[in-house]
Amino acid sequence: MSWQNWAGTVTADPARRYWPKTAGEIADAVQDAASAGLTVRALGSGHSFTPAAATVGAALDLSGWTGIVSADPDSGLVTVRSGTTLRALNAGLDALGLAMANLGDIDAQTISGAISTGTHGTGARLGGLATQVEALEIVMADGTVTRASASENPDLFAAARVSLGALGVIATVTLRCLPAFRLAADERPLPLEEVLARFDALAAGNDHFEFYWFPYGRNALVKRNNRIASGADAPAPMPGWRRFWEYEVMENAAFGALCRTGRAIPATIKPLSRLAAATLSARSYSAGSHRVFVTPRRVRFVESEYAVPREALVDVLAELRRAVAGLSQPVMFPVEVRVAMADDIWLSTAYGRDTAYIAIHQYAGLPYQEYFATFESIVASVNGRPHWGKLHTLEAERLAILYPRFADFRRVRDQVDPHRRFANRYLDQVLGR
Ligand SMILES: Cc1cc2nc3c(=O)[nH]c(=O)nc-3n(C[C@H](O)[C@H](O)[C@H](O)COP(=O)(O)OP(=O)(O)OC[C@H]3O[C@@H](n4cnc5c(N)ncnc54)[C@H](O)[C@@H]3O)c2cc1C
Repeated sequence: MSWQNWAGTVTADPARRYWPKTAGEIADAVQDAASAGLTVRALGSGHSFTPAAATVGAALDLSGWTGIVSADPDSGLVTVRSGTTLRALNAGLDALGLAMANLGDIDAQTISGAISTGTHGTGARLGGLATQVEALEIVMADGTVTRASASENPDLFAAARVSLGALGVIATVTLRCLPAFRLAADERPLPLEEVLARFDALAAGNDHFEFYWFPYGRNALVKRNNRIASGADAPAPMPGWRRFWEYEVMENAAFGALCRTGRAIPATIKPLSRLAAATLSARSYSAGSHRVFVTPRRVRFVESEYAVPREALVDVLAELRRAVAGLSQPVMFPVEVRVAMADDIWLSTAYGRDTAYIAIHQYAGLPYQEYFATFESIVASVNGRPHWGKLHTLEAERLAILYPRFADFRRVRDQVDPHRRFANRYLDQVLGR
């Protein structure tokens, strides 16, 4: 049976599939595939837009290898099986009175798929999900299980937290979690000029700051999520009916209808996009952290995202704005801007620099190539690094310039997978053979 990713941008026909239910069965599958001369790829939830998970070799479906293995509420250290989705992880952590420090905006990904591509949320004092990892257990090419942490195999640890499945199959992930916390969410439209003029202050002044901007619209939707200190005043929780109205009806059903109209009659895209921007409304509420971070995304789209040095954001966005106005094919989906703190993970998009992320989207089925190519040429001038799971065209030669520790990553790869058991075409493109 063919495999397809969420966005429908990639299909693949694995030669063989395995459904391991223990770490031992993962090792057996790796060895069995090796003896058949097949390459090996672990499957996550298929939410990468790139062919990161695609394989013509052996596909390891880890949907039967899930759940929390152990948890220490005092230290916050939680070990989880690699096929666990973020949704299941969040529910499990809730029950333990714990939470992830930061999350992206959906929870369908597996924990291992998410860290392997450098999945991130937003927060100027926080890193992506991989920065919350304290240790990994990895099934290596020869079928042995190796532990990696800051003190055990530190080079492997620096490489493996964001490694696109290139170094082995992650069996377990140990995360450093926080005591469960609530967020005060504030979302409101503001003129884009104002948001850009205050960008540094907004990023620095909020635990989690991001904004969405509809090309052709005047306003951006600014989201500010801040941790609520115990005993502090907080906005009321959002009633269930309003949550349904705002997120399901307005952001999904109504927005989906606008997108379908735009796809059917492209001349309506610009006015519809302005309409979507003009109808943005303000809301303030509080909720448990992951309920604020995560929202349903039911309207299908394609996406590209680049990490740029934080100080370049305002200029890049100004240039993107000018370029979008001149595209021959209009854009139906908003641009999303987020931030992250510099980290030390070799292939993390935020390696060594405070980062702003710019994500561009287009509604599924509408042409996007001109838009995405224009975006890539703009971010290239500020050494933008592409999200490993979102559409881009960069190859190993260019990526080696963008990542100061790229050669170290390749050295570790040569050591642990000299015969390229874990290769696929995407890795050939981005890491070389
Ligand atoms: C609607 C939507 C919203 C998104 N929101 C965000 C967001 O807010 N922030 C963000 O940064 N990204 C976001 N993404 C991108 C997404 O988080 C990443 O592409 C992520 O990798 C998807 O996880 P997955 O479990 O689907 O992994 P897959 O896409 O299935 O796989 C990703 C990679 O991980 C490898 N892998 C999976 N499991 C293992 C394992 N056990 N061992 C070794 N390698 C493994 C795969 O082989 C592959 O190379 C979004 C994507 C979509 C479609």
